[in-house]
Amino acid sequence: MTLRALYVDSNSYFASVEQQLRPELRGRPVGVLAVLTDTTCCIAASTEAKRFGIKTGTSVRDARKLCREIVFVESRPVVYVQMHHKLVAAVESCIHVEQVRSIDEMWCRLRGRDVQREGAVQLAHEIKQAIYQAAGSVMHCSIGIGPNRFLAKTASNMQKPNGLVVIEQADLPQALFTLELRALTGIGSSMAARLEACGITSVQQLCNASAATLRKAWSGVAGARFHAMLHGDDIAETPTQRSTVGHSHVLAPELRHRDAAYAVLHRLLQKAAMRLRSLDCISARLCVKVTLKNRHHKVVCWDDDVALDPTSDTRALLAAFDVLWQRYPPQASARGWEPMAVGVTLVNLSEARNQSLSLFSSSQTQHQLDAAIDALNLRYGKNALYFGGAAAALQAAPMRIAFTHVPDLALESDRENMRPDLAKK
Ligand SMILES: [Mg+2]
Repeated sequence: MTLRALYVDSNSYFASVEQQLRPELRGRPVGVLAVLTDTTCCIAASTEAKRFGIKTGTSVRDARKLCREIVFVESRPVVYVQMHHKLVAAVESCIHVEQVRSIDEMWCRLRGRDVQREGAVQLAHEIKQAIYQAAGSVMHCSIGIGPNRFLAKTASNMQKPNGLVVIEQADLPQALFTLELRALTGIGSSMAARLEACGITSVQQLCNASAATLRKAWSGVAGARFHAMLHGDDIAETPTQRSTVGHSHVLAPELRHRDAAYAVLHRLLQKAAMRLRSLDCISARLCVKVTLKNRHHKVVCWDDDVALDPTSDTRALLAAFDVLWQRYPPQASARGWEPMAVGVTLVNLSEARNQSLSLFSSSQTQHQLDAAIDALNLRYGKNALYFGGAAAALQAAPMRIAFTHVPDLALESDRENMRPDLAKK
């Protein structure tokens, strides 16, 4: 039977990198935090911590209750990106990497002898060995092999850590029956609710459903695609167009006040604008979000957005941000409430080259200014030149890692990480 996809997913990635680089952490429950403070939550947990029920999103307080011995470490995004490149190179030394899906996931298309079970399994063992050699003995991964990428990824989730699972066409659909609906990529809480409305509450029912039923549940052709993938068809990927660029940041305790939240947002927006330009895109809407918490741990969010004359111009974006910030509710600064996390997102993106000329012309001079700032920041580190509103937050909001986005180190890393030669001077 033909196997077409092999999916590699590193186990407990951020925590494993820490354990690889700091041997004293090996074998211990480790929680990785964005900022070392008691009022945040884990962005990753080691395999040992997971055995205590600690996972991404578990608060520091709850993690301590679940496991008194847990060790917390602050995340080091730059080293996670460096390790990512080692992993990709290791897999590439065995088989071409078709696509990197996130910082710790990639997939490969199987060909030749590898489409048969024996060849695919041998290849998976070779990949694991190549990763251990290049990245270290703690860098375990789970490998899934299947008739298409969706099923290979599903298989990679079925055995952790250090798994190797093959789903062949002949195993379908029974091989999937032990899974929860939510374990399948593409089924989040809202999709699960829609499926339930169609009478589907288990994977077995999902597999037995017709393409027409799934089309109805998904309200469109995506349902038919899901049906095909679930049953082993190797259908072409739909090209996904990037629709947002954003950055968010958990505020360190000393930055949990209105002015610092403003400065950090200012800085995040400058980073997002630079990223937008590097993608050669413009945005038509700016969204800002501030998460606030009071001393009783009650959490509320303030978010607001504003339409933009499509732009990637930093000054135009900062002007729009200042308009938004004036709407920041005064009661959010009242005693007892403090901002915990902030984020900016640029949405409604389109390609800059399709831009029609603005009525309120963002002039050639502004484009040249942005290009010059980007060039200087790429050369000398991103704090070389910045707009003043971010001054109070220059050391805040360092590069953050999203699982789905591997940061470009040149664009997003801090000066000292990027140019050690310059930083020493
Ligand atoms: Mg993983």
